Amino acid sequence: MKRIGLLTSGGDAPGMNAAIRAVVRTAIYFGMEVFGIERGYAGLIDGKMTQMEMRSVSDIVQRGGTMLRTARCSEMQTLEGQKKAADVLAAQGIEGLVVIGGDGSFRGAKDLTENFGIPTVGIPGTIDNDLQYTDYTLGFDTAVNTCLEAINKLRDTMNSHERISVVEVMGRHCGDIALYAGITSGAEIIVVPEIKYDMDDIVKRIDRSRASGKHSNIIVVAEGVMSADDFAKELQAVTTHSVRSTNIGHIQRGGSPSMADRMLAAQFGNKAVRLLKDGKGNRVVGIRKNSIIDMDIFEAVSMKKQFNYELYETLQMISM
Ligand code: ATP
Repeated sequence: MKRIGLLTSGGDAPGMNAAIRAVVRTAIYFGMEVFGIERGYAGLIDGKMTQMEMRSVSDIVQRGGTMLRTARCSEMQTLEGQKKAADVLAAQGIEGLVVIGGDGSFRGAKDLTENFGIPTVGIPGTIDNDLQYTDYTLGFDTAVNTCLEAINKLRDTMNSHERISVVEVMGRHCGDIALYAGITSGAEIIVVPEIKYDMDDIVKRIDRSRASGKHSNIIVVAEGVMSADDFAKELQAVTTHSVRSTNIGHIQRGGSPSMADRMLAAQFGNKAVRLLKDGKGNRVVGIRKNSIIDMDIFEAVSMKKQFNYELYETLQMISM
């Protein structure tokens, strides 16, 4: 394979730039040409791309966001849209495509392979950690660290005023950001889409913690359940403690990627290009038990995400 394309798609995630750098430099190392496609599948259909060189990706390893920008593109979900994308790739002589994005982006990649025979490799780039086949997605670690910084600050002020802080975090339908941020921030309670919450039980846990000498409480609510505002209203109706709500919001999606995310980016990007070089397409890369793996893209997107109940129980036991 002599020429490949590269795009970022769906929601952006810290570490996407580091992955772009790894893809571009690995490809150049193997003597391949790389075309950076702007704005995900929308840019691909419009033919918006430029050849990337070694120096095109200088000074981006530490930056959040994606230098290629990203977009959602409904046209890609139609066969006509996919055909346009395939035609653009053929016209440019691009023989393989690396797609950095979440499960939706992977479906687009799978369609390009299945319907038009274009070898594609997916790199899991999403803060949500909502893909079952990989232990971690790119951006998750940084997003959780951003949540921790915010929760640390909230704890200071909640302690002073003896309040309950309801903190909303992202993750769409997946509770992993809430779970990991909850455990590692010392939050007393997490509310996730995977487990139905019981307000009576939550009030009991808060009262128990206050009786044992705690001055404040942190409740992390995943966006897939409800907003922090709504949850705080519901809670305030049944407790005498003062409740405040905070939505951490889009700052979770930005910022300089953590070491863990940069390391994933380097390994995922390198592996993706090696697969294409070896003539393998229709694959995704991931990490399992600390090893970089690849698997069939169709199998990967059809796996249902499993919630880690053991970690949830750990939180219940140690956050009192
Ligand atoms: P994130 O998890 O961060 O939101 P994502 O990749 O899952 O990332 P989506 O908005 O679901 O984000 O998908 C991104 C893009 O992938 C869509 O805008 C569309 O262009 C393409 N896509 C999504 N689903 C499909 C599908 N079933 N077939 C073809 N293309 C798809």
